[in-house]
Amino acid sequence: MGEPLVGRMREFGTTVFATMTKLAVETGAINLGQGFPDTDGPQRMLEHAAEAIRGGFNQYPPGPGVPELRQAVSDHRKQWYGLAYDPDGEVLVTVGATEAITAAVLALCEPGDEVVVFEPYYDSYAAAVAMAGAVRRAVTLRVDAGRFTFDPAELEAAVGPRTRAILVNSPHNPTGTVFTREELEVVARVCQERDLIAITDEVYEHLTFDGVEHVPLATLPGMRERTVMISSAGKSFSVTGWKTGWICAPAPLVAAAQTVKQFLTFTASAPWQLAVAYALREEMAWVAAQRAALEAKRDRLAAGLEAAGFGVLRPAGTYFVQTDIRPLGFADGLELARRLPELAGVVAIPTQVFYDHPGRGRHFLRFAFCKRDEVIDEAVTRLRRLGGTARPAV
Ligand code: PMP
Ligand code: GLN
Repeated sequence: MGEPLVGRMREFGTTVFATMTKLAVETGAINLGQGFPDTDGPQRMLEHAAEAIRGGFNQYPPGPGVPELRQAVSDHRKQWYGLAYDPDGEVLVTVGATEAITAAVLALCEPGDEVVVFEPYYDSYAAAVAMAGAVRRAVTLRVDAGRFTFDPAELEAAVGPRTRAILVNSPHNPTGTVFTREELEVVARVCQERDLIAITDEVYEHLTFDGVEHVPLATLPGMRERTVMISSAGKSFSVTGWKTGWICAPAPLVAAAQTVKQFLTFTASAPWQLAVAYALREEMAWVAAQRAALEAKRDRLAAGLEAAGFGVLRPAGTYFVQTDIRPLGFADGLELARRLPELAGVVAIPTQVFYDHPGRGRHFLRFAFCKRDEVIDEAVTRLRRLGGTARPAV
């Protein structure tokens, strides 16, 4: 039979998150790899989901999403960002942000079109682009003054006659960068000058630290009309397993994404939609407290990693901290990530797998801090063993 998998998906294999979580389970290591919290979201929201199930809310909801959630998403966008989206036609509920991104790319990109991404990029972007038969063009985020940023000239150079869209993720996984208004203005200018669609992944919109503000690209002048804005309940409400996301965009863009989405999954699970509608209205104070707790966890893990000898790049948002492994005498993050359970009983993510130019991310490891304090402390205690184990040129 030969290789059954189609050529365009062969580079993907198993996601790094599944691989590293499996490694953690097999070795009993502390899992600071895959980004999921080890505590639950707001209690009343969980009860709303249970009540929805018990109340018989268990059949197919409407394809675009239940009206209560579309209205709550619309109101949330208005209240937080001053953006008006009509819940009938400009909001589409999806199976997580992942489906939203994939549906948008499949709906908007012809085979051979190019999509610009910032590397390191969230892994599903590359797969979505490949499924569409499109081509990705990576613009590298480089460390400057302690944070990852891009060179505007590199962004402009990455855009060519076949470029259709730019995928923008801010707050950014895996670097923790929150794009500044100035950086977003560069993206907005390029989108408008070159007539591109922006697909924005804003799943960490509420998880920013040190008073840093998340600016949605769609709020910049001229951008709402060409932006497909994507978010998800998973991160804001600590329910990554609920896979409830949404798209907000002008009606023709939403209609395009919905045309694809209806044949991927038709609709998203019903009970979570009601619970998330409740949470968007009533649990934003819980989210604010969660944000503050995460900021403290970031500080806790960052300090611990520094004490263990890593170079630490403090994130302004997300669940993740990037570290430079070279001060410990290591050179290759992929190699170190594979050995980390044995060396220190901890699992982390090798950042280089998120690059088209892996050499540029070879010396980074990503650690998740969305964990209970005692878990972070135990991981740090274990990682302090590493100082003695490093051998040059691993
Ligand atoms: N985008 C980014 C940047 C993410 O980190 C994640 C997941 N954790 C997703 C998308 C996927 O979100 P969801 O689980 O809602 O599909
Ligand atoms: N977004 C999570 C992370 O970056 C993982 C999501 C997944 O497992 N696909 O760790």
